[in-house]
Amino acid sequence: MGDTPLDPGGTAVVVGSSLAGLRAAQTLRAEGFTGRLVVVGAEHHAPYDRPPLSKQYLARTWGLDRLWLSPQAKLDALGLELLSGRRATSLSLEEHLVELDGTDHVRFDALVVATGATPLTFAGLGGVGGVHLLRTVDDADALGARLGEGVRLVVIGGGFIGSEVAATARHLGASVSLVEPLPTLLVRALGPEVGEVCEAAHREHGVDVRVGLAAVALQLSDGRRAPLDGVGPRPEPPAGTGPRVEEPDGGGGPGSESSAGAGPRPDLPTGARPRREPAARSGPGSDVAPPTATVTAVELADGTTVPADVVLVAIGVAPAVSWLAGSALSLDGGVVVGPTLHAAREVVAAGDVARWPFGADGRLVRVEHWTNASEQGVAAARSLLAGRRHAPVHDPVPYVWSDQYDLKIQVIGLPDADDELHVVDGSLASGRFVAVYGRHGTVTGAVGIGRPRQLMGVRPAVQRRGLVADAIAVLDA
Ligand SMILES: Cc1cc2nc3c(=O)[nH]c(=O)nc-3n(C[C@H](O)[C@H](O)[C@H](O)COP(=O)(O)OP(=O)(O)OC[C@H]3O[C@@H](n4cnc5c(N)ncnc54)[C@H](O)[C@@H]3O)c2cc1C
Repeated sequence: MGDTPLDPGGTAVVVGSSLAGLRAAQTLRAEGFTGRLVVVGAEHHAPYDRPPLSKQYLARTWGLDRLWLSPQAKLDALGLELLSGRRATSLSLEEHLVELDGTDHVRFDALVVATGATPLTFAGLGGVGGVHLLRTVDDADALGARLGEGVRLVVIGGGFIGSEVAATARHLGASVSLVEPLPTLLVRALGPEVGEVCEAAHREHGVDVRVGLAAVALQLSDGRRAPLDGVGPRPEPPAGTGPRVEEPDGGGGPGSESSAGAGPRPDLPTGARPRREPAARSGPGSDVAPPTATVTAVELADGTTVPADVVLVAIGVAPAVSWLAGSALSLDGGVVVGPTLHAAREVVAAGDVARWPFGADGRLVRVEHWTNASEQGVAAARSLLAGRRHAPVHDPVPYVWSDQYDLKIQVIGLPDADDELHVVDGSLASGRFVAVYGRHGTVTGAVGIGRPRQLMGVRPAVQRRGLVADAIAVLDA
């Protein structure tokens, strides 16, 4: 197997039970895989959607019931063994084994790596109260429990998630400071001109935007000062701390070495409002002792101090690859895959964890957006089903959206921050426009705010990587 099609009666294991992993499992079943299908997920929840965590869910306009990626009945119909609360801790390619929680293991004929990404944080903040990260629904519950009228929130990091949380927190009545060391908000994703449009919207909504300034330390309630250095991924809980989920028949299926198996959905959609008290993991990177001190202020590089009751650290993510160390997969800023998403003969990777060759020049990219995870989950499963020799090349047109206040920001393609920007419809001043990004006259992407139809008009030019002049002509016509 591997270069040849997947045996439909074999065993496929998917590690990561979120968007990319679920889409891969759904595609395997929809396209003829009838064998054993094991999905391993470190979280204790059924697969759920992350974008609302910084928007509707955090704003309390959506409940947990709106987050599930699949209705329970459809999940059941997939006939998969969903091992929630179990963490893959190592991979042996030679023996075709994934180790779970450092204790038992599951054997595979084909493996999908879909472990996504882990938020970055600063060293030594684990025991500090009031400091939050945002990646999971538990994180959103913990942060949401702290936000409200008059609360002073400082967001460190002016990317998509930091900017979205700032907007949501204003909606909830919090007073918000947004700190970004680069000269403009969202500059990496959107470039300086469009970043400034978003920045203006934040200022209009009363956000204290501090750009070009790094946050250097937190001041704490016990008089200590916690320097903000030593950036790294949030530490994982120790192996073996996840609960076991009983198998319905008390044993593993044929070929099972795992002590865990299919179990009831641990967290059924109830329609009830989610918990609003802080979750156990309230500090960034800590499942341990309760905080000994809480944050009172954030010090900035220019010597100023911003008072804070709550701090969100939103400084980016790292691909969740620690469990693959020593596995012989190529790990370089993610799991490196080829054009068919194969990382090895019988292993594919998809979503935020995968680093894949993009475009004509095949430069390796890792994309941290919803549509990419969804499309790659599907494509990775198809690659396994077809086998590496026959699998189609994955060549998508990347897409991301972000909602901040009444701004619907949409980007297609993968522009670089220093690409030229050509406004082709509307105006930056009005905050409603479509603009094309170009490099040496060739389209690298397009952005629209409040102009979804017009943006789709330039999509073919982005897909073709055509000439900027042609893309401008399309909207002029
Ligand atoms: C707050 C927030 C808002 C967002 N908003 C937008 C948006 O507006 N637009 C947009 O395009 N994108 C948005 N995104 C990004 C989008 O949600 C991600 O790109 C997408 O979730 C990636 O899916 P994934 O399946 O690759 O990885 P993930 O969603 O990260 O899932 C990976 C899963 O694998 C599990 N896992 C990790 N390691 C292991 C292990 N060793 N063993 C078992 N399981 C493991 C994790 O616990 C996790 O459940 C947002 C993300 C966040 C956090």
